[in-house]
Amino acid sequence: MAKMQLTVLVVEDEPAQREVIVYNLVSEGFRVIEAGDGNEALLLIEEEELDLILLDWMLPGTSGIEICRQIKMKPAFRMTPVIMLSARSEEVDKVRGLETGADDYICKPYSVLEMIARVKAHLRRSRPGAAGERLTHDDIMIDAETHKVIRGESELKLGPTEFRLLTTFMERPGRVWSREQLLDRVWGREIYIDTRTVDVHIARLRKALNQQGGQDPIRTVRGAGYALG
Ligand code: CA
Repeated sequence: MAKMQLTVLVVEDEPAQREVIVYNLVSEGFRVIEAGDGNEALLLIEEEELDLILLDWMLPGTSGIEICRQIKMKPAFRMTPVIMLSARSEEVDKVRGLETGADDYICKPYSVLEMIARVKAHLRRSRPGAAGERLTHDDIMIDAETHKVIRGESELKLGPTEFRLLTTFMERPGRVWSREQLLDRVWGREIYIDTRTVDVHIARLRKALNQQGGQDPIRTVRGAGYALG
């Protein structure tokens, strides 16, 4: 069963260091996009659906701190973990004092294993469904590990796309997703699919969820997209 691929943005100006980080994240199955400076990072943040950001503190142009502050001001990134990479522990104290809103700090030099472990730990909290955790919302429960979906007393059979759609909704109940955002999350950015395909799969998901009756948990938000609850 295809797992949901999570996207990590790596912002690091040292090519050799960036390469090591990217290599290891890709080996772990992540989709990785890279930026070599702050301005590039800010552009990518505008156009990508990101699950986690690894952000070097010392960058040419806009500093990592400033980027972090700008990221955290955006409502769409409120739940996106930002891990700052910092050269010296004194800098870490300074960064902490500045209250940039970063979720974690890793001091350079760091071990790649530790970096990966921290990335995964943050993603388990911010993207529990994609990380294989069990999610519940009202009378719906999904278990990403066993691929089980239960509503009330009945187990539901969902296709892989409907399963990923439901996982996306259950990770952020109430959030309104545009069709484009759902395409990015559920189908992946590299594939071109018509946005109407989203409607087709939403209809299938609704049919499966509502087969035993009960209230339709998926809300159509006119002109905006879809939300759970
Ligand atoms: Ca640097």
